[in-house]
Amino acid sequence: MRLPFTLLIDPVPADSLQHDFADTFHEMDSSAPALRVGELSTQRGDGIFETLAVVNGHPQEVEPHISRLRNSARICELPVPNPEQWRAAITYAVSRIPQRGEIALKFVLSRGVEHGPAPTAWLHAAAAADFSVVRANGVRVITLDRGYPRGVAERAPWLLMGAKTLSYAVNMAAIREAHRRGADDTIFLTTDGYVMEGPTSSVVLRIAGEYVTPAPSGAILHGTTQQSMFDYLRAQGASVTYRDVALDELRQADAAWLVSSVRLAVSVVALDGEAFAADQALTDALNAYLLARTA
Ligand code: PLP
Repeated sequence: MRLPFTLLIDPVPADSLQHDFADTFHEMDSSAPALRVGELSTQRGDGIFETLAVVNGHPQEVEPHISRLRNSARICELPVPNPEQWRAAITYAVSRIPQRGEIALKFVLSRGVEHGPAPTAWLHAAAAADFSVVRANGVRVITLDRGYPRGVAERAPWLLMGAKTLSYAVNMAAIREAHRRGADDTIFLTTDGYVMEGPTSSVVLRIAGEYVTPAPSGAILHGTTQQSMFDYLRAQGASVTYRDVALDELRQADAAWLVSSVRLAVSVVALDGEAFAADQALTDALNAYLLARTA
């Protein structure tokens, strides 16, 4: 029961008939060298990943994360992960880490070593940062142009929009830009002014009492936390919908949230320097619900 925890995985094909995967992954010392210099994930960011939360020993939304990893693999033309193997690796990792507290479990599939025979894969678990302050106080957000018009994913699939690739340098630069402007986080817009997502989160708005998120059209990720949030809201009798959201609608929304697997739901309390109405009671209830999930 220790952190950080690392498992190297030898990926098996998606159609493998194997049912016992114990000999396809092995634990290693998290501080020991593990990747080769020719590794394309580090040289080119050429790989995909997922991060899920483990709360008090319960890994959250394993199936949606595995399914999104498989979708990212298809978009990136990587060998599609074997869901049973990844499920087994996650189960094993969860059995080896502390059963209390919040842990971020990241799993990666890389194209592998240049000219090498196979993809490389690993899983890494570390204590989650303490997000209690932002969950309680919310985040100040700026909008930033993502540089692409609406519909780009369909016209230019080689941009790999909609895949959760390791190439997060742009996403991290957008967060630094937010900090430079005295804010905490960013909402990306298309060049024609439609809401996309945050650099590490989905955007959910309440507009005239209805909860709205941009449709995961291929240009943005389909957030697992946003889907849980919609389940919660539906169970409360609220109306939820996927549709395009223009910047003006965002500005006039009753409330807005950034939601993601480890930070969970945070209220937007300022937008482009202007105070923004927040529904902290709902944020608190939602986070209590998200933290209580056992699967
Ligand atoms: N969009 C982007 C670009 C992300 O990086 C993330 C999470 O890291 C999300 C959305 C939210 O996804 P999830 O709720 O599955 O964590």
